[in-house]
Amino acid sequence: MAAAISAAESGGSVIVLDKAPESSMGGNTRFSGGALRSPAEHVSADDLIREAQVLSHGRAIPKLVEILYRNAAADVEWLKGLGVQVGPAQAERPDLRGKIAWHIPGNGYGLVSSLYPKLREYGIDVRFEHKATKLLQDYFGKVVGVQAKTTRGFKEFHGNVVIATGNFQANAEMRTRYLGPTADSLIVRGSRYNTGDGLGMAAAVSAELMGNWGDFHSAVLDARSVPVECGETNINTYPYTVMVNINGERFLDEGAAFFDTTYVQYGKAVLRQPGGKAFCIFDAKMMEQDLVFGLCKDFEPIHAGTLSRLAEMLGINSKGLEATIAAFNAAVQPGEFDPERLDGKSTRGLSPDKSNWSLPIDTAPYFALPVTGGITFAFGGLRVDSKSRVIDTEDRVIPGLFAAGEILGGFFFQNYPGGASLVRSLVFGRIAGINAAQRKKREDRAA
Ligand SMILES: Cc1cc2nc3c(=O)[nH]c(=O)nc-3n(C[C@H](O)[C@H](O)[C@H](O)COP(=O)(O)OP(=O)(O)OC[C@H]3O[C@@H](n4cnc5c(N)ncnc54)[C@H](O)[C@@H]3O)c2cc1C
Repeated sequence: MAAAISAAESGGSVIVLDKAPESSMGGNTRFSGGALRSPAEHVSADDLIREAQVLSHGRAIPKLVEILYRNAAADVEWLKGLGVQVGPAQAERPDLRGKIAWHIPGNGYGLVSSLYPKLREYGIDVRFEHKATKLLQDYFGKVVGVQAKTTRGFKEFHGNVVIATGNFQANAEMRTRYLGPTADSLIVRGSRYNTGDGLGMAAAVSAELMGNWGDFHSAVLDARSVPVECGETNINTYPYTVMVNINGERFLDEGAAFFDTTYVQYGKAVLRQPGGKAFCIFDAKMMEQDLVFGLCKDFEPIHAGTLSRLAEMLGINSKGLEATIAAFNAAVQPGEFDPERLDGKSTRGLSPDKSNWSLPIDTAPYFALPVTGGITFAFGGLRVDSKSRVIDTEDRVIPGLFAAGEILGGFFFQNYPGGASLVRSLVFGRIAGINAAQRKKREDRAA
């Protein structure tokens, strides 16, 4: 949508093809939490650029990260100018702690439903149930359009092409091929329509596939989530709990940092536990402070008067849970608990220790949220340059072909900073749309 509106603002005549029916419009964006990572009062572009390198172990492409965060703040303003409501993250969603600056009320659905009418206002022709199947090229390799499968057969559309078809997370075969033998069973958090079509079409015209193809974005999800399009069932408040597996054993430092830089890796750590599950355990103190909650109010925590009864209800090792919690409580160090900052209230002598937000779990009733991982999108994708033009395997621009959003590679490796994907779709969508329209103008002048 950002690409289409930006192209129209630049004088382009735009057609949007979407494989989904209108009722399912909005791709993964529709299911998103609406959190935006962008420079703001408490965080500079330099901070975010540095952080991107730390979280990617130095592998994120510096030029792309620089473009992302140097443009993010202005592009969030552009969104606001279109009438999209954007507010300070924590004001509406207290779970969005860390460096997430902004949040869109109504989450991703709020964003999509604000932007969709704008497409119409800009005279953009939106065709649903039009699945792009093939890029059209001229004799010299320039991309001159796209073939689409419609309810009335195949059709061709001509012009410069921006591919923004998301990644391959909803394609079980590709998940297995790139992410491993058990990835077919992952919960798909977002759109069932993001099945890697754009990646395949681009690869067929020699686009370079780059980035972290063997890894993906996950989250700590309520294990009761539906298997496809579950949306925001993530539990971002796990840092204030103790997480155990079915043996009742801890396996990670729940409070290593605010959720926004750990949740993607922890979702995957949960998946590696026996049965691919774990449990966030907390007590009445936490519940009273309303500190631990699932975003999806369909799922209530499971509770019991004793830890052994709780273990029984969860179907996990009762002795293991009791021993873990007793050891945890004994290891909690003095200090003030403060969920708003890295409070340093840690445990000592455990393996692993908990670095922040450690409070003894000693006040009945005891609560648990069953959690698992899932896939949001995959990290590998297309290579683009600073104009969002797709680069081929011979290191050359593919004329007429642009790409934006989740389909891009080179940003995220193993880990991910929360709120970065929507901003990436916004920034590179705008760049792709503007450059595609400008290229068309140059072509028209030259003709
Ligand atoms: C539950 C959930 C929560 C999230 N929360 C956040 C968050 O808070 N902050 C954040 O930054 N990111 C978040 N994300 C990630 C983020 O929402 C997405 O990565 C981003 O919105 C992707 O945008 P996009 O435009 O690239 O793709 P999408 O929004 O997925 O759009 C892709 C479009 O391409 C269409 N399509 C696919 N194949 C074809 C084809 N062959 N022909 C025509 N059309 C096709 C699809 O139907 C869809 O409309 C979340 C994702 C999920 C699922």
